[in-house]
Amino acid sequence: MILFKQVEPLQQVLDKFRQEGRSIGFVPTMGALHQGHLSLLEAAREENDTVICSIFVNPTQFNDPSDFEKYPITLEKDIELLIQSNTNLLFLPYVSEIYPNGTSNLPSYAIGFLETILEGKYRPGHFQGVCQVMHRLLEIVKADILYMGQKDYQQCMVVKRLLELTRIPTHLHTCPTLRETDGLAMSSRNTRLSPIQRAQAVTISQVLKEISKNLQPGLTSSLLQTAEQKLENAGFKVDYVALANADNLELLDRWDGQQPVVTLAAAYLGEVRLIDNMLIHSGK
Ligand code: AMP
Repeated sequence: MILFKQVEPLQQVLDKFRQEGRSIGFVPTMGALHQGHLSLLEAAREENDTVICSIFVNPTQFNDPSDFEKYPITLEKDIELLIQSNTNLLFLPYVSEIYPNGTSNLPSYAIGFLETILEGKYRPGHFQGVCQVMHRLLEIVKADILYMGQKDYQQCMVVKRLLELTRIPTHLHTCPTLRETDGLAMSSRNTRLSPIQRAQAVTISQVLKEISKNLQPGLTSSLLQTAEQKLENAGFKVDYVALANADNLELLDRWDGQQPVVTLAAAYLGEVRLIDNMLIHSGK
């Protein structure tokens, strides 16, 4: 694996690979790698000649400064895992490589409705930050296929929109969420949970599973209220539990029995904010 901290030498190598006809699969991350990240790298490995991973804790997407400061960093272990997974290139940029003109006058992106609901509503500015970093990374890497996790469902939709807005010809491949054996979605932030919080954390996937199982055509509010109550009983402070149209993320207070549905939740255990979602197949 070759490690790059600067854009120029990375682009020289990528250009050479492209001239040789090698396809490029790209997995952007914020590090503190776990099995979920590795599953994206595996998917990229299967479908491309070259796999590139980036590790960059993007300051512009953190609306909460303490979340940014406490974001876990495990670089040595990450590098070991990347070598084991046969990653070819690691991009570990300095902030100045991503934002050469600083972070104060960055462009804003017309992502519209997606920015006003769920993560967009509870984390103001977050998706602008995601677009800023992803636009820059996509322009640097010029990948054939970009691999992202369904764990961040709304983020995938935002990046899809970004690809349309910028007309960058990279194809987005969304990969399934990897879970711990008890069902908790793997996340770098899980390492910040105390043992007691870790035991409670599983409730978030349990309530989403219950919603998936119990959803019937008609009003959805009592199902969502029960879920919220269960989370509160387990010690969570809830931002939202929601049902939405899986194709466009329009919130559903009534399900017609036909629409493709995703159920999503975000809630805090202490200072740690967890998110999860599950797709509900109407054919159940
Ligand atoms: P992050 O490092 O949290 O920014 O995540 C980098 C990529 O890994 C994103 O595309 C995430 O959606 C994806 N990811 C995070 N957790 C999981 C998981 N449990 N299963 C699959 N993909 C994941």
